[in-house]
Amino acid sequence: MDNDNPHSLDRYHRQMLLPGFGEQGQKRLAASTALIIGCGALGTVAANMLARAGVGHLIIVDRDFIELTNLQRQVLFDERDVADSLPKAEAARRKIAQINSQVRVTPVIEDVNHTNIERLAATGEYGRADIIVDGLDNFETRFLANEVAVKHGIPYVYGGAVGTVGMSYAILPHTEHGDSPWEKAGRATPCLRCIFEQAPPPGMNPTCDTAGVLGPLVSIVANYEVVEALKILLGHYDAVNPALLSIDTWANTTRRLKVARAYEVGECTCCKKRSFEWIEGRYSAGTTTLCGRDAVQLSATGENRLNFEQIADRLRAHGEVKLNNFMLRAQITDVNEPFELTLFNDGRAIIKGTKQPARARGIYAKYIGA
Ligand SMILES: [Zn+2]
Repeated sequence: MDNDNPHSLDRYHRQMLLPGFGEQGQKRLAASTALIIGCGALGTVAANMLARAGVGHLIIVDRDFIELTNLQRQVLFDERDVADSLPKAEAARRKIAQINSQVRVTPVIEDVNHTNIERLAATGEYGRADIIVDGLDNFETRFLANEVAVKHGIPYVYGGAVGTVGMSYAILPHTEHGDSPWEKAGRATPCLRCIFEQAPPPGMNPTCDTAGVLGPLVSIVANYEVVEALKILLGHYDAVNPALLSIDTWANTTRRLKVARAYEVGECTCCKKRSFEWIEGRYSAGTTTLCGRDAVQLSATGENRLNFEQIADRLRAHGEVKLNNFMLRAQITDVNEPFELTLFNDGRAIIKGTKQPARARGIYAKYIGA
């Protein structure tokens, strides 16, 4: 084994034996970029397997930091990461560097929204991703990812899991000129919006907040996403499952929903009419109640970088403050309802201890400033 050569393909021997891989396929994976949006349960499993498979560049975007309750299912993290208060994207980078040093990981500690998703997926410094992998926990951002996939002609693998039920589906989007390799192969699939016309309104669907989530189920769904992603990156569009997979691991049911005709029979605003409402920011909100966290996120307020040292000095009068390169965290205990405030470099904040956006905004205004 030639373990010292950083470009050696030896480590992929068992994978290269598979049909459709080989040395050529492996080189193709090494030259590929995957954008993983969300690095929670789905995202950690996907990042782990894509790195082990030798996908050359992983852009991992996540807005959050690691908590103890994540460890039940978020396989790249451990207790040390919780103690260090690391952002998920950075912890994932460190872990993957130990797993496969041939893989380049770009951690992005940002909230994915209409202002940055095109830059991250297609038009920014990382270039155009070859695939978008869904590690998300909400439909609003999925619709955004779906639109970027369609607009820029990037395949997108959707995955979701709540309770004991999971779903996954690979989108090989219809593009503006119909000239993508998968369209030439006759393998384009309906987009997410062809299938789900609208995001379910908040509160209508169970979330991991209310229903919990089964760790191994998330692994199953994420691994299914990775299988489809590898087929796509290798160019085996004929092998991609055109159906939407729905699996209930507790009721022992697996369904394949045939959605292939949804594009032809529908009038999809996104992939048929090519109107990109989510990218335009028509549905964006400044605050988000975070799934399962008793917490509210406040969007970045401006371009000005915050001065962590100054803010930390001020907040120490109200409770315990911790600082690292990525964020500031304060436990504010001198109030009736104690809360935890986490500030990120980009000005974004997560207020834990409330689910009310108005209270979160009030706390931010009082302790950080408008
Ligand atoms: Zn569509």
